[in-house]
Amino acid sequence: MGDISNGVKLSVHDGVHNLSLHHASSRAFTGEALGAVGTAGTLNEYGDPFSTMGT
Ligand SMILES: [Zn+2]
Repeated sequence: MGDISNGVKLSVHDGVHNLSLHHASSRAFTGEALGAVGTAGTLNEYGDPFSTMGT
């Protein structure tokens, strides 16, 4: 874990999983904020940098 801060982050992350919540994902589209209708974009499983459930 490196330091106590990373230990707290990991504990909270896994505690939230125990509440049945999933990772905070994001979806990116090349050149556009939302992309065209029907375009899947690129999913990043941990894409939300503002959530303990993301990166
Ligand atoms: Zn997780």
